[in-house]
Amino acid sequence: MLDITGYIWYNIQVMRTIIKKYSKIVYILSAIIVCVFLTITFTACSSAADEPDPSPSVEPSTPTPTPSTPTPTPVPLELVPWSGPVEHLFTHEVIAWPELAFNGRTRQGGFDAEFITANEFRAILQSLYDNNYILIDLNDVWSEFTNESDQLRMMRNTLMIPEGKKPLVISFDDMNFYAIDIPYGLMSKYIIGSDGQIWAEGFDPTGNYVVSQDLAAVTILDKFVRENPGFSHNGAKGCIALTGFEGILGYRTQNDPSDTSQAFRLNRMAETARVKPVVDRLKATGWYFASHSYGHIGIASASLARVQADGERWLDEVGSIVGDTKIFIYPFGQRLDGADQNVPGPALRFYAEELGFRLFASVGREPYTQIKDSIPAVIMDRMLVGGRTLRNSRERYLRFFDAADVFETAVRPDEYGTDWGNNDDNYGGDDD
Ligand SMILES: [Zn+2]
Repeated sequence: MLDITGYIWYNIQVMRTIIKKYSKIVYILSAIIVCVFLTITFTACSSAADEPDPSPSVEPSTPTPTPSTPTPTPVPLELVPWSGPVEHLFTHEVIAWPELAFNGRTRQGGFDAEFITANEFRAILQSLYDNNYILIDLNDVWSEFTNESDQLRMMRNTLMIPEGKKPLVISFDDMNFYAIDIPYGLMSKYIIGSDGQIWAEGFDPTGNYVVSQDLAAVTILDKFVRENPGFSHNGAKGCIALTGFEGILGYRTQNDPSDTSQAFRLNRMAETARVKPVVDRLKATGWYFASHSYGHIGIASASLARVQADGERWLDEVGSIVGDTKIFIYPFGQRLDGADQNVPGPALRFYAEELGFRLFASVGREPYTQIKDSIPAVIMDRMLVGGRTLRNSRERYLRFFDAADVFETAVRPDEYGTDWGNNDDNYGGDDD
């Protein structure tokens, strides 16, 4: 618009010069020309943003010339009901510096299996978008209702999705920036930049302080959606699953009952104050949170008393910062209801009936959901996006992306091999 204003001003100056030189008649003609110019200009601006005028002029319309600098305006797609499966992928914080993750140290194998690199994440997002997936908020898929026996239960909503798109949920486990993980090539924390956006800060392999939007999962996805708004339905981004034992998002907000010092208390208060604006910004830009237990506990083997204490502590130390959530993501992919998915165990009952969680996500090979009929809960599986599945499960993920295209061979260790030509799926076991 500044350019247009400048152009109009320029025209007026020209007109004034003409006025001085020529007669009043020319002045009137010039004014008419300016008016016509303005009318054309503002009609063009508004037609780019508004719906076409439904009542065409009496004259047969002639093709509208294409503006010299066209701004692509996405045409809103018609919303249609989606009754198919809602795909749910998960991964972890991305590896910013693969040379630190894959340099032969003891945890290299775990990072290779469970993590993807920043470049792989970008390539996967592009492929998901190209394959017509669109991000939705997992919370929008399900609702509570009260049945005829006055019991609270869960039901699936009628999802309305842009025509031609397929709904997708992405979750990110352990986005806590554990101290033990950061030296393996992760950024250190999320921060708010002076522009009000989320950025990630960290240290590169030579120890230089880095602030970037290209090296961490949240900022990479934010940037991708800014550039491709059609990848997000109603602004939805991803689900951030947090433990609490080492704080959240790179801030050490955890309590330590054994440390009653003033210094610890003040530092914890300061960290909590620092992370709150980050949490607020994430929530305002389509991100939502889940519990991943407080201590990343092995649910399957933990006593009910431990599950209860862990759940309460998560609400106290993490829920108090990120707000209410109904999503619980199992550590290690272990289910609260144990081996029998049809009979809720006491731990699942506690989480659903006492703590108010409704959506429980594990790990599996295909989209899977089950609405519990005896408690208000839905259990579901998610599919891992990590080196393990990139290497061994290419076929199973082809509807999302081709592992052979997105896998960063140049930076991944050779020793774990790939199985891209073989349809047998060597993927096994649960992941966190
Ligand atoms: Zn985990």
